[in-house]
Amino acid sequence: MQIAKMSAAINSSNLLGEFPSASQVLAEIANAATPTESPNAETNRIQLTDSHCHLDFPIFDADREAVLARAQAEGVERFLVMGISAAQWPRLFALAQQYSSWRMAFGLHPYFLRDRIQNREPTFADFADDLALLPTFLEKGALAVGEIGLDATQPLFELQVELFKKQLHIAADMNLPVILHHRKTLDKMLPMVKKAGVSSGIVHAFSGSYQQAMQWVDAGFRIGVGGVITYPRAQKTRAAIAKVPLESLVLETDSPDMPLFGNQGNRNEPADIAKIAHALILLRE
Ligand SMILES: [Zn+2]
Repeated sequence: MQIAKMSAAINSSNLLGEFPSASQVLAEIANAATPTESPNAETNRIQLTDSHCHLDFPIFDADREAVLARAQAEGVERFLVMGISAAQWPRLFALAQQYSSWRMAFGLHPYFLRDRIQNREPTFADFADDLALLPTFLEKGALAVGEIGLDATQPLFELQVELFKKQLHIAADMNLPVILHHRKTLDKMLPMVKKAGVSSGIVHAFSGSYQQAMQWVDAGFRIGVGGVITYPRAQKTRAAIAKVPLESLVLETDSPDMPLFGNQGNRNEPADIAKIAHALILLRE
């Protein structure tokens, strides 16, 4: 267990190292925009990362290589791809072996619980095998437990709570960060996370006030910034993201979901990380 804990601690620092904060990203963009004496364009190449995407989803099967090439052309070099269900974990793992730019998280996403059992509502007992299997997948080099959380707009809320608690404890035991999904549940989740002893992670697709964001930052979390900041109507979230320290922000797309403003209804792609970074620069001016 000691060795498992040590390797997990290394993974925790990997998450922060491989998915750098917005302060590092924006500094790199500023450097790249400033001509240097070096004639070598490679030294000016910006390295962007997408800290939250679902590139394993079948919607990318037909043109995954092209999607990755478009991302690379925009400087997006690394992708943290989320686990959503035990049925999906082997597929994610197999694809991550194929693409060296992918990093993995494994978890049970509250959206997909209904898919577990045909013809009836699933119960906590139906997930016993999945929860027992989760550490095995996490030990295959995962950087985080995710995507996990609570979604008040989805059914089976009591089951969501039980599964969330259990996965928080697995993350705490393995000293891994968590990637959190939330909808109308941010304030409910924070005490649960603290109680479980989880002390780092990313609040994916943050929307809320500056005060809410800083409560999570104070708990050791980073705030995921995606397409939402490109929507003029997202005033509260834009105001919050404008003030949260850049070191506590990370960039993400949630591809294929959450397209940027003007692109509603279309499939989202990690290449748009570059546009999100520029939207963030404008927001911080
Ligand atoms: Zn997601």
